[in-house]
Amino acid sequence: EDYIREYSERTPGSRVMYQRAVKVMPGGVSHNMRYFAPYPIYIKETAGSKIKDLDGNEYIDLWMGHYTHILGHQPEAIAGMVREAVNRGTHWGFVNHYQVELAEKISQIVPCAEMMKFGVSGTEATMYAVRLARAYTGRKTILKARGGWHGANSELSKAVHEPMDVPESAGILPQAVQYTETFSYNDLEGTIAAIRKAGDDLAGIIIEGVGQLFIPPKPGYLETVRNEIQKAGALFILDEVITGLRLSLQGVQGRFNVKPDLCTMGKVLGGGMNISLVAGKKEILGLASPTSGLPKGQGVLMGGGTFSCMPLAMLASLAMVGHLEANAAAIYPALEKKGRRVREGMEKAMHATGINAKCTGIGSLFTVCFPKDDTALNNIEAVESSTDVKKRDQEFRIRMMNKGIYTVYGGGALSMAHTDEDIDRIINAAGETGREMAA
Ligand code: PLP
Repeated sequence: EDYIREYSERTPGSRVMYQRAVKVMPGGVSHNMRYFAPYPIYIKETAGSKIKDLDGNEYIDLWMGHYTHILGHQPEAIAGMVREAVNRGTHWGFVNHYQVELAEKISQIVPCAEMMKFGVSGTEATMYAVRLARAYTGRKTILKARGGWHGANSELSKAVHEPMDVPESAGILPQAVQYTETFSYNDLEGTIAAIRKAGDDLAGIIIEGVGQLFIPPKPGYLETVRNEIQKAGALFILDEVITGLRLSLQGVQGRFNVKPDLCTMGKVLGGGMNISLVAGKKEILGLASPTSGLPKGQGVLMGGGTFSCMPLAMLASLAMVGHLEANAAAIYPALEKKGRRVREGMEKAMHATGINAKCTGIGSLFTVCFPKDDTALNNIEAVESSTDVKKRDQEFRIRMMNKGIYTVYGGGALSMAHTDEDIDRIINAAGETGREMAA
């Protein structure tokens, strides 16, 4: 294919690095999402909205560290604090006052966060949230969305993609998902039916406020599900790993005015460092206290990990959260505007070429889909089954990269570092890519 040839010609250094990588790492990667055919580019520099690969090609980055860098790569607001933290010692393994200050700050900002525990990855956070829900309710069943991804934990490994009824990975016992049931995001009737079916064994539902491909909730969907869950005596767990501090300062909770029993956060929270948290009601988090007085085996173990609350990460997070809070009135409306412009602009530019493309998303998050028909793109299953996924993840991606734009799922996350000029370039590249794909 011509676009693959062009890509290969532009990236000889990355090709050589990939050939080295596959000899020592399966598929050359540590996170399978970072692989794409024919081989990924290897990055050597980042700043603001831009990344540079080994061959010196510059790209406008829309992946932004897995949707982490809301202020752009290496923002000055964080960098100074990180440099200072390095001098103080990056990892102590002791309780420290930074973690208290951060927890106090989060509890002021995030509606459900009466108490919290910090960890180092979103995977860990959702694992502990499920554990807490089961321990608190004394019930087993957890509901998750078909097509939803909450990290690599075994108990939520079902229904990530087809086939939906088995764990997504070999090596996970079917028993690990024995009590994991599923529902279709944005399908209110179906979700309520799943809640009823689980009956009095329902421990909780784990849901992203915004579907995996950034599909916004239908009006009233989250609120109604939240009420039904409450009636069922189960816990509503909002996975805000992507949306926390991004869709608003209070995440989905602020944006849709829905207060969960527990929430998980990660990504933006860390200010570029690896931090996650589980937050929620005192009486639930209290189960994980070493002073709960509960007999061994009845309290909830939340290990948190060797590197939890390391000063480097706490300080980076304090800088990020402090900056977002102080500048919220400017930052969030600006991100909304950028997102709207990119979605409308890309869709229009591609439609002008005769390509049927749809740009879904909300706030600063967006995805490009290529619907095979006019199916409404309400949930992840609908997107995946009714769109040409290969076209999006392979052809569109590589063609956009040839024009200096790095997308994932056709889109990604905008940051404060993305300028109007960047957005014009993204839209123009989408139009040009549309013309090439239509030819
Ligand atoms: N939850 C959601 C919604 C995610 O998108 C991710 C993704 O990466 C996770 C949890 C897992 O987070 P981590 O990659 O930090 O383990």
